[in-house]
Amino acid sequence: MENFKVEVDGDGILVATFDVPGRSMNTITAGVMKELPAIVERIKSDAAIKGAVLTSGKASGFCAGADLGEMDSRAAAQDTRSAEEKLQAAFDSSFAMNKMLRGMETCGKPIACALEGLALGGGLEIALACHYRVAADNPKSQFGLPESKVGLLPGAGGTQRLPRLIGVQNAAMMILQGEPKSPTEAKALGFVHEVVEPGDTLRAAKKWLKGSPNAVQPWDVKGYRVKDGPYSPGGGMAFVGGTAMLMKQTYGNYPAQKHILSCLYEGIQVPMDAALRIETRYFVKTLQTPQARAMIRSLFLSMQELSKGANRPQGVDKYEIRKVAVIGAGFMGAGVAYVQAMAGVETVLIDTTQEAAEKGKDYSKKLLDKRVSRGKMTQEKADAVLALIKPTTSYDDVKGADFVVEAVFENREIKAEVTKKAEAQLGPNAVFGSNTSTLPITGLAEASERPANFIGVHFFSPVDKMGLVELILGKQTTKETVAKAIDYVLKIKKTPIVVNDSRGFYTSRIVGTFIGEGLAMLSEGIAPAIIENVAKQAGMPVGPLSLNDEVALDLSCKIREQTKRDLGDKYRASPIDPIIEKMVVELKRHGRKNGKGFYDYPADRKKKLWPGIVDLVPTKIAECPPELKTELARRILYIQSLETARCFEEGILMEARDADIGSILGWGFAPYTGGTASLIDGVGVRKFVEQCDALADKYGDRFKPNALLREMAQTGETFYSRFGGEKAKKAA
Ligand code: NAD
Repeated sequence: MENFKVEVDGDGILVATFDVPGRSMNTITAGVMKELPAIVERIKSDAAIKGAVLTSGKASGFCAGADLGEMDSRAAAQDTRSAEEKLQAAFDSSFAMNKMLRGMETCGKPIACALEGLALGGGLEIALACHYRVAADNPKSQFGLPESKVGLLPGAGGTQRLPRLIGVQNAAMMILQGEPKSPTEAKALGFVHEVVEPGDTLRAAKKWLKGSPNAVQPWDVKGYRVKDGPYSPGGGMAFVGGTAMLMKQTYGNYPAQKHILSCLYEGIQVPMDAALRIETRYFVKTLQTPQARAMIRSLFLSMQELSKGANRPQGVDKYEIRKVAVIGAGFMGAGVAYVQAMAGVETVLIDTTQEAAEKGKDYSKKLLDKRVSRGKMTQEKADAVLALIKPTTSYDDVKGADFVVEAVFENREIKAEVTKKAEAQLGPNAVFGSNTSTLPITGLAEASERPANFIGVHFFSPVDKMGLVELILGKQTTKETVAKAIDYVLKIKKTPIVVNDSRGFYTSRIVGTFIGEGLAMLSEGIAPAIIENVAKQAGMPVGPLSLNDEVALDLSCKIREQTKRDLGDKYRASPIDPIIEKMVVELKRHGRKNGKGFYDYPADRKKKLWPGIVDLVPTKIAECPPELKTELARRILYIQSLETARCFEEGILMEARDADIGSILGWGFAPYTGGTASLIDGVGVRKFVEQCDALADKYGDRFKPNALLREMAQTGETFYSRFGGEKAKKAA
């Protein structure tokens, strides 16, 4: 066998050690699916075998689940069979795992699972089909069913065994949210039987096997009743309350979520064999949704590629990042210092006064204190992390830095001054990165003596929570610099995308169109609550007015004035301008930062839409029938995808993958679509163009599709066929 080492000890205990060759982590591949049934058959039919233990040969853990790469191609497979034949084939292949695991748990011999490390997705589902689970008390271990995070549901018995072990309410929470549990939490919930010292799981599993164990699962014992069945108070909470809560949180955009509840509801009322067939039916149905396909590609495959440095130019040696100087210890700089220290990077934090620099370091102290108080870190470790940050005003401390992140005010002159001061101390190989949010990098690099080593490193706030870093290439940025910047971003455990230079780059530019469309709706007299709610129903994490409050209205005003100055006669005044101007200049409503914007921010209550908006713009539309909702939702999403298409045409974006991941990680663009580029592919380029033309007739030229989209509609290309693959790497 290739993926398992199978041995039988003197007590007749078969030990199957899961160890997929050439991988750091076990996943369930087609090869694994061929070998596991043979092991089960041997356990069942070999009279010399008294029981078995499944364990892993990997230090990383037991198994991380199905190989989603294989699953993606399965979902995408083109074939000529009839719809019914295809459905039957999909059912059969998806049911194979359920059939095999059911065979395992009813084979008549006791089987234990020894979990030294993590078991996720299909990995945990294998473990749940064993009769006994022993876990090592390893703080890095995680046990969970994260399928819903990529638009799927657990399809190897997870939706059936977990509720039967821990009750419907707990299982529903775990499966819908996809959050893993630690070994002790798993034991408290009841899906792990025993927690032992690391390295001791195999011994404990064998001990259980030798103690005349029961080889029958609880649900196969006559009289078994599931906890929180549908007709119990707990079940009422889970199903009635759960359905309502789900709609509130997802607005029905994620079919997997609804299918998970259906699996639980229907499955727990019937015996296990029927329950597993129900699960497989919902699994196949879910796998075939466009949402699952888009989410698997973006949130799993693309994320995995980017986190392995997929955009990194080849032929450049790995760049070790030991010391980084962060200049500007404000909101962003303080956050960058924290994530660096957490990644073990020696950090110099510079500001104009020692007090400001210390204040920046205090931000890390606060976050670390929180971790310690929540038991997520020891005080000793927190002290060690904090000690990595040196607050200072002296550029002498920049000496020896491998990388610089400039995060001073968004002001060209100040940025130029600190660039010169820092470069005077840097070695020839060091990279200078600017965290500007809008200023073109090529222009900023003019202040640099070494523009080849200059790059945009755009973080998102709050830095400790946001996973994206947008790397922006200036005209003279070299491929060595890109590679080093990617090494830096990966070192601090963020996901890098690579884009070309322009005002607002990719992310800020698209966010601008989202906010702009919300304001356009406001100027049309659409009630603010409708705008905000429709945006959320379309899948955006917050409404455009709320987001404008977050990024600050006075900033919007400043950007508008700057654009007016830059464009001169070409500037086209918009009906939004007087609204924003009045909000900022006359009413001093600057957004969340001064406690008043489109929302009011009372200290003791949740924020609320400011009632005075209607005096600024009288409400003409206060009802939102379904057709209007569809049109508003379309406007909100399409305006962002249209601008993304323009970024491709202008060469700012090079890869569909970067557009999608940038949009989901950067500003939470409707994840079920797969991202701004996937949205267009999902709708179909031709249909998207037609729908945008219709919007343009009604709402103006901003909805006019660009030449690229029209060409793609003609040729039948998609963003992934035209901009998939290795474009960014080549361009760098
Ligand atoms: P901030 O005002 O909170 O911090 C700026 C810091 O720079 C201040 O502590 C200031 O004292 C310091 N500073 C000013 N001049 C300096 C100098 N000559 N030498 C050293 N330090 C100096 O601003 P911020 O929100 O942290 O933004 C910083 C940069 O990050 C800006 O370019 C901004 O556009 C960009 N950015 C901001 C966000 C955001 O959400 N706030 C997001 C991405 C990028």
